[in-house]
Amino acid sequence: MMLLKFFWRGMTEVSWRLSFKALRLWVVKGLFALRSYRHRIQKGELFPPFLFFALTNACNLRCRGCWVESQGTPDSLKLNDIEKAMEVAAKQKVFFHTLLGGEPFLYPQLWELIAKHPECYFQIITNGQFLDAQNVRTIRRLGNISPLISIDGFAHSNDSRRGSGSFRQAVEGCRELQKQRILYGVATVVTQENFEEVLTEEYVQNFIDLGAMYLWFYVFRPVGKNPSPELCLSSEELLELRCRLLELRRKMPIILIDTYWNAAGEAVCPAAKGLGFHIGAKGSIDPCPPLSVCREFLTDHDGDLFKTINESAFLREFQKFVNDRTKGCVILEHPKELARFFEVWNAYDVSGRFFCEELKASESRSSHHLPGKEIPEDFWFYRLLKKMLFFGMGAYG
Ligand code: SF4
Repeated sequence: MMLLKFFWRGMTEVSWRLSFKALRLWVVKGLFALRSYRHRIQKGELFPPFLFFALTNACNLRCRGCWVESQGTPDSLKLNDIEKAMEVAAKQKVFFHTLLGGEPFLYPQLWELIAKHPECYFQIITNGQFLDAQNVRTIRRLGNISPLISIDGFAHSNDSRRGSGSFRQAVEGCRELQKQRILYGVATVVTQENFEEVLTEEYVQNFIDLGAMYLWFYVFRPVGKNPSPELCLSSEELLELRCRLLELRRKMPIILIDTYWNAAGEAVCPAAKGLGFHIGAKGSIDPCPPLSVCREFLTDHDGDLFKTINESAFLREFQKFVNDRTKGCVILEHPKELARFFEVWNAYDVSGRFFCEELKASESRSSHHLPGKEIPEDFWFYRLLKKMLFFGMGAYG
């Protein structure tokens, strides 16, 4: 029944032109990207099926626990460098790109970049403060975009983490997207503060009523200048989160995304699988978005990103470092060892702060790797989506 309702929503709430574009550019091309990625793995090659570009670290918000340093003169990627990387990626059948920041709507060439690449599909991870009528009409006109709006609870919980008034502004953005029948989603970071609020039918239904077609749940990581470790979840809460997700998935006509467990319920670290390398606003090739360190840059090897990533001993050793310790998140479980690993590798700190010192000051805690408590997906549709990594939306978390 859930599936019928979901597909009916897709048929009646999202523009058919945009749905067909998403089917062709995101889903079908995503299948080929995944097949090509698995072939590369078999050949011992390292290059992800999807790319993440932090266009700029400029942002108008200062969320608690954000890993992006937005003080001072912002860094932004050069359009030519991004396009060169996308050209190289296309040869590896990679056409799905996530644009994040900072706040990607503060990147002056955002529309130029997307308009020049109608063969690609773009997910824009945004704080939802710039989704006015004009920007939303542009999203609809271009058609190869799915915005993902960061909202962390209802007004009080959201604003206590993201800033006063940000919830109201983001919800106005949702309504504008709904009016224009755009395929969009909401991303919620689950914390100690909003746990009982966001993992409920009421919360999920709220965004169904606002026209969202997917809701992505992240687990909080204590990183950045204001790491707020008090917001972290305990192992009992992580297990509860898993159980509630499975329950909501059977009922709610919306795609509920997590990137922490595979179809068998085993923990996954997308970076350890070479899925979610992050291109930082300084052009750094980071292991994953919250880890602001690197050994390579976008412009290395004349911008041949395949050569740079595939030949990166640092990224391969990072994968081994994770796989030798956990299936979960080393940021949560082994922050001090992780700092030592980065120091041994003389990794460049591109955080704009003292990243390794922050890791050393962080306590070891539970992550989503809960050995012996694995709960497999109990709904065939989600087993399929998990195997397909949500066609790119399951590639970092
Ligand atoms: S699980 Fe942790 S280390 Fe792995 S990709 Fe996610 S945030 Fe990064």
